[in-house]
Amino acid sequence: MSKRIFALIFLGWRFFLHFLKKLSPFHPRQGIEAYRANYEAEGLTTLSAPERAAFPSFEKCVACDACVHAYFGPGRPYSPLQATPRDLALCLSRSMPDYPSARQVVEGWTGLDRFEAVCPRGVNLRGIVALMKRHLETYDRSAADRRR
Ligand code: SF4
Repeated sequence: MSKRIFALIFLGWRFFLHFLKKLSPFHPRQGIEAYRANYEAEGLTTLSAPERAAFPSFEKCVACDACVHAYFGPGRPYSPLQATPRDLALCLSRSMPDYPSARQVVEGWTGLDRFEAVCPRGVNLRGIVALMKRHLETYDRSAADRRR
């Protein structure tokens, strides 16, 4: 029981110190610059307000494969190794640190409006690619800065 009381007092003390630090003019808040310094090297960049607002339209894929059927056809025989619009919506766009590995795929997309047109969920495929390209540009710039 005494251990529990000690733990609660300690927790309350840390909570009090935390708020004191937040209110202190001698402890400036680091904010977005600290975030960039800590995470850009790992491939995490910040989202703009429009990108954040568009996110729900990126995450609606239910893997119905309608876009996959439109993607493969007479001029493009089926291949399990080929990245499809479904892969773009379901996995390629999910992890920012992995975007550089998907660079070739991202830069090779054309005609995504055709796949958006058959998508019953209205997944914003062009928006996903635009986000990934913008992120890769930021990532490349920060990598070049780090090399200097
Ligand atoms: S058609 Fe839309 S919902 Fe279906 S797999 Fe493609 S992106 Fe996902």
